[in-house]
Amino acid sequence: MATNRTFTMIKPDAVANGHIGAILNDIIASGFRIVAMKYTKLSPEKAGEFYAVHKERGFYGDLVSFMSSGPIVAAILEKTNAVEDFRALIGATNPADAAEGTIRQKYAKSIDANAVHGSDSDENAEIEGNFYFTAFDKF
Ligand code: GDP
Repeated sequence: MATNRTFTMIKPDAVANGHIGAILNDIIASGFRIVAMKYTKLSPEKAGEFYAVHKERGFYGDLVSFMSSGPIVAAILEKTNAVEDFRALIGATNPADAAEGTIRQKYAKSIDANAVHGSDSDENAEIEGNFYFTAFDKF
């Protein structure tokens, strides 16, 4: 079922660099409503589980250790066309390729420490949101 929700994480680099407020401000100013939100930290096991789809890729180990290196903000966001619009708001995976004004262009330094996650489909948005939140956490 197509939904109007996506899932995001503000990654450890952006949290450590003090960008939580600015990123949330950009997200809200772009018309997204916060459905659920949590400040938390992934264990290496949990990060490995979240990114299991990338297990065969060369950067998987680095990705898991980076994503468990410090606190993150996880959130479910709602807006018409949420997945696509949020991918446009965050910009390309590699911040060097991210369009002017996108979150990754403004707040990310490298392809691994790229400030934010955004789901790539409605199906994954649902799975990823449910990784962190139960029905009682969603408003
Ligand atoms: P996304 O959907 O834009 O987040 O990109 P992907 O699904 O392709 O990759 C997932 C995440 O893996 C990215 O957001 C990066 O944090 C990380 N990643 C992708 N490519 C590389 C890489 O070449 N090296 C490292 N260390 N991390 C990468």
